[in-house]
Amino acid sequence: MEKGIEVQSILKSLEPEEAASDARPDDSIFTQLLERLVQGYSLRIESGEDEADSLEILLDGVSDSVLIVSPSGAILNANPSFYRTFGYDREELLDSEIYALLPPSHRDVFRQKFAAFGLREGERHSASSDDIMAFRGLRRDGVTLTLDCLLSSVQCGGQPAVLMLIRDLSFDHALFEQLKETKDHYVALSETITEAIFRLDENFSIIFANSGVKNTFGFEREDVVGKPFRVLFPPEVFAQHEKEFNKYFFVDDADRLAQGMKRTLEILGATKNRGVAPMEMSFGNSKDYKGRSLTCVIRDITQRKTLERRLRHLAYHDKLTGLGNRDLFNEDMKSVLDRVRDDPEWKGAVLFLDLDGFKRVNDTLGHAAGDELLIETGRRLRVCLRDRDSAYRFGGDEFVAVLGGIKETGDAAIVAERILATVGNPYILRTKGKNAGGKVNVGVSIGIAVIPEYGATLEEATRNADIAMYCSKEAGKNRYTLYDPVITAKATEHWKMEQELAAAMTSGGLSLAYQPIVGPDGRVRGMEALLRWRRPDGRMVPPSEFIPLAEANGTVMALGEWALRKACYDARRLHARGHTDVFVSVNLSGRHFDQPNLVPTLAAIVRQSGLPPGNLCIEVTETAIMKNTQDAIERIKEAKRLLPGIRFMIDDFGTGYSSLAYLSRLPVDALKIDISFVTQLAEPQNQKIVNAILNLARNLQLDTIAEGIETREEWQYFARRKCGAMQGYYILRPSNLGKVAALIERQAREARPTVSAETAAKTVSDSD
Ligand code: C2E
Ligand code: MG
Ligand code: MG
Repeated sequence: MEKGIEVQSILKSLEPEEAASDARPDDSIFTQLLERLVQGYSLRIESGEDEADSLEILLDGVSDSVLIVSPSGAILNANPSFYRTFGYDREELLDSEIYALLPPSHRDVFRQKFAAFGLREGERHSASSDDIMAFRGLRRDGVTLTLDCLLSSVQCGGQPAVLMLIRDLSFDHALFEQLKETKDHYVALSETITEAIFRLDENFSIIFANSGVKNTFGFEREDVVGKPFRVLFPPEVFAQHEKEFNKYFFVDDADRLAQGMKRTLEILGATKNRGVAPMEMSFGNSKDYKGRSLTCVIRDITQRKTLERRLRHLAYHDKLTGLGNRDLFNEDMKSVLDRVRDDPEWKGAVLFLDLDGFKRVNDTLGHAAGDELLIETGRRLRVCLRDRDSAYRFGGDEFVAVLGGIKETGDAAIVAERILATVGNPYILRTKGKNAGGKVNVGVSIGIAVIPEYGATLEEATRNADIAMYCSKEAGKNRYTLYDPVITAKATEHWKMEQELAAAMTSGGLSLAYQPIVGPDGRVRGMEALLRWRRPDGRMVPPSEFIPLAEANGTVMALGEWALRKACYDARRLHARGHTDVFVSVNLSGRHFDQPNLVPTLAAIVRQSGLPPGNLCIEVTETAIMKNTQDAIERIKEAKRLLPGIRFMIDDFGTGYSSLAYLSRLPVDALKIDISFVTQLAEPQNQKIVNAILNLARNLQLDTIAEGIETREEWQYFARRKCGAMQGYYILRPSNLGKVAALIERQAREARPTVSAETAAKTVSDSD
């Protein structure tokens, strides 16, 4: 006997299940399954099979949950899927009531249902999707399941029972929720973003646009959806990029890099109200059952472009004059040299300019006046050039001009003459100060390298223009020189020497030789540090040659600091060997002595070395001190305050024109008698001077040193006159530190040090 199936659709309204309230495409399959189950079950019972067996065989293969409950709700039998779904073992649930698996709110409804089905006598009723009941189940771990079920009345053990077919919708439901959430995210994202997002179909028609279109292009999205993509660009721009867009349409993201396609495109877009604007586009394409589509994200990059331009300008231009800087020059020269390569007839020129007398303006009138002068020079230089020429400032008072496309070398000379004349006009400076409104005159030294003859590469052009400028300076300034290997040969040699000297400090070409300074008893009291330079070709250059060169170009600052540092460290090495009473004497150039930061630099170097200042003596020539005596006095006082114990000595004393009044006020400690008086001691005139110096020093309580002692007679002459100390080949030639240390150690072993021709003979050898 079959019982009819009736499920009140009113039950559905109990459940606020949006997802379950609509019939889904496979609902009919669900109802058919129930039909078949009930039929199969009934048939087997009718044919006398064991109920339990037939149920098991029937239900095992069903993926949905199937169970048979008594009209009171006891679970009589169920398939494995049911136990799996609810998370229980068969033994745990069999014979217990199904209500434990339902939320309390559902229990009464099911109780009534089961009771009604149990009473029902079988008018036949086919299950339909309307009978599907949505409800919730409680899994063992507390998770709520979203379920659908169909009920049917069956016989079990001769008793009425209810067959339940249950489908778990939790997965579908979760998927639905996920989709909904993804859609929400997508909408939120595409509507928040200020960039325009478009989707295009294969005809490049816009099928979707977000609200960012308004922000980027000024159009409402309704204005553009359905329109061709081309409306967003100036026609010629679109035509130019159409092929490329097509490529983005068909080539997938992953393959783009391999095909040399960029991640983004920069392109001009056409806006509604602002005309043409630079835009950046990125693409993503997708393929679904409806076909291919291309997603473009377009952002307006006007601001970024402006910023880039400004940054580029900053990076490539001199702030003060607005002219290009060295980096821009290097860039521009690349194109100039490319031009030469393409067109052998083409000629150009590089002009290096250095102002003559700028330092004087800066030092006397101040930096503001100096800046004004530089700005005006930049302006004047520009005026002398044609549009196709360029002007640069490399820093300081160095300017450069690049002439493009000249007919012959003479053209560069004409421009140089024009620059000389223009810069030669007096400058009237407005900057407030001592000289406000006053006239200032400066000159300019110009060096020209014609391209490509003397400048086939960037290095060659800059080197030759620099040499030619050097030549102008050496020849008396305020003139131009055209680079020519013959004419500029001497200057080239000097120029090369300058470059090499600057490099020598780091490449190991420099060293210090030491010459002992001994007391009248012959004992070593100190040593003078003397610079030595070995050029890359191995030649030794005497300081008398390279110090003036270094003074002329300013390298002497770095040289002096290098020598001071090295001398202090070497003296420390002597101390480490126990000779703590030996001082080191270091020469400082007059240029160095002029530097406002001399004292702090000196103090820093000495402190870093760890040499007690009492073991350091600084030699400054008489001429350097006399140039600006008041300054010198202050410098020395300041140094003595920062480095207590440090001594100062006037080198080459007797050759300058020391004012005796100043000498008495100078806080110096010693006088070094100039070598010329010593070597020509035979002349009575010189002996008088030497005696006068010794007397003067004694009266001023200054120590004295005689340098250039080569003979026993000279030694005796000074020793007899109680000269404080002596230095010369007779004692030891300038040598390496090891030799000086050896002399000191030999003396320490001897009870009475001997200074004699034999000692000298033994030790005569320069350090290198
Ligand atoms: P100076 O400071 O008057 O150094 C003494 C010079 O006399 C040294 O020449 C030394 O080698 C030389 N001399 C020493 N004993 C004798 C001798 O018995 N007979 C003769 N004929 N000469 C002797 P050097 O080393 O060639 O230095 C020349 C000058 O170069 C130095 O004169 C000094 O003014 C300058 N100089 C050397 N090293 C430095 C340095 O580190 N910085 C600076 N600014 N100038 C330096
Ligand atoms: Mg000296
Ligand atoms: Mg000297």
